[in-house]
Amino acid sequence: MNQTSRQSETIRILVAGTGGTIASSGEGETDVHNYKLALTAQQILAAVPSVTSLADIECAQIVNTDSFRVDNATLLTIGRKVAAFLERKDIGGIVVTHGTDTLEETAYFLHLTMRTEKPVVVVGAMRPSTALSADGPLNLYNAVLTAAHGTSPGKGVLVVANHRVFSARDVSKSHTSAIDAFRAPEVGILGEISGDYLRYFHAPVCRHTLMSEFDISRIQALPHVDILFDHQSAGSHLYRAAIEAGAKGIVVAGVGNGSLSPGAREGAAMAWEAGVAFVRSSRTASGTVAPLHTDASLGILTSGSLNPQKARIVAMLALASNMTPTGMQEALLQY
Ligand code: ASP
Repeated sequence: MNQTSRQSETIRILVAGTGGTIASSGEGETDVHNYKLALTAQQILAAVPSVTSLADIECAQIVNTDSFRVDNATLLTIGRKVAAFLERKDIGGIVVTHGTDTLEETAYFLHLTMRTEKPVVVVGAMRPSTALSADGPLNLYNAVLTAAHGTSPGKGVLVVANHRVFSARDVSKSHTSAIDAFRAPEVGILGEISGDYLRYFHAPVCRHTLMSEFDISRIQALPHVDILFDHQSAGSHLYRAAIEAGAKGIVVAGVGNGSLSPGAREGAAMAWEAGVAFVRSSRTASGTVAPLHTDASLGILTSGSLNPQKARIVAMLALASNMTPTGMQEALLQY
C-alpha cells in the first residue's frame, strides 16, 4: 500500500464473516453456481496471508449464511455486532465479508446506522474459493487495504469489488454472475485500487454514519416492508395480500418515473386506507423518481434516487424510528 497514506503501523482491522460465496466451496473448479457454505472468516483469510502486511488482523464470525437468507433479525444482528466492534478503541476499521446477492442492502443499512467515521468495508465474491480465477482473495485483500487506508475514514460504509470502491448508497449488484457485477449507475465509483495503490475521486454527499439520525440501539425490531414489481396488467391482489400479511410499508418498483399501473394505484389506495406507507420507486434501477401531482391524494412518497431495495431500508428505519410520512419522505431524499 502506498505508505504515505497508510494509517499508523498498529492499525487493527477486524474481519467479520457473515457467509456468502466468498466463504463457499464447490466440487470442481468450474462450479461457479453449485457450491456450499464451507469457510469461516479465519479460513478465508488463510488464503490471503499478505493481508498481514497491511494491518493487524482480528477475525470474528457474526453468522454464516447465504445472503439471500438474511432476514430483518439477522440484519439487526449484523448491525449490532458491527456497532459493538466499532466501539472498541483498538479497532481502526472493519471488513464485513458477505454474500453478494443482498450485499447492497446490508451495506446500506450499516451506512445509515453505524455512528462512526472509521472505515467499514463490505466485500463478497462472485466465484467460490474453489473456482478457477476465484475473485474472493483479491477482493478481500483490497477490502483490508481500503479499511486500513488513511484516506478512507469519513466516507461512510464502502463496498469493494473487482478493484473498485463504491459508496454503499450507490452500489448495486447488476449482473447475475459477472466478476464486475457491482455497478453504481449514474454516479459511479468513489475510488479504485490498482495493485497496492488506492485512489479516491469522490466522496459521498448524502447523509450517512455520523450524520444519520437512525439509532440502532433504540430499534428492537425492523418492521416488515415489501417490494412489489409493477408491470403491464398488474393486479392489486398482491398489495392486498401484503397489507393483510401485516406489511407496515410497501415499496413499488414502478415503471419509468415510478408510474403506477391501474392495479398498483388501486394497491396504493388500499395502503392509504390501511395506514401502510407507500413509496414509489422505479424498476429502471437508475434515475430519480420525481413527485407526481397524483401522489398527494393517496399519501404516496417517492424514493428519490434510491432503487427499490435501498428505499426499503430507509422505509424500515423510518418506521422503526416512528417517523411521520413527512419525515420518511425527507429521509428518502436525504440519505
Ligand atoms: N451467489 C451469492 C454470492 O455471490 C450467494 C450469497 O449472496 O450468499 O455470495
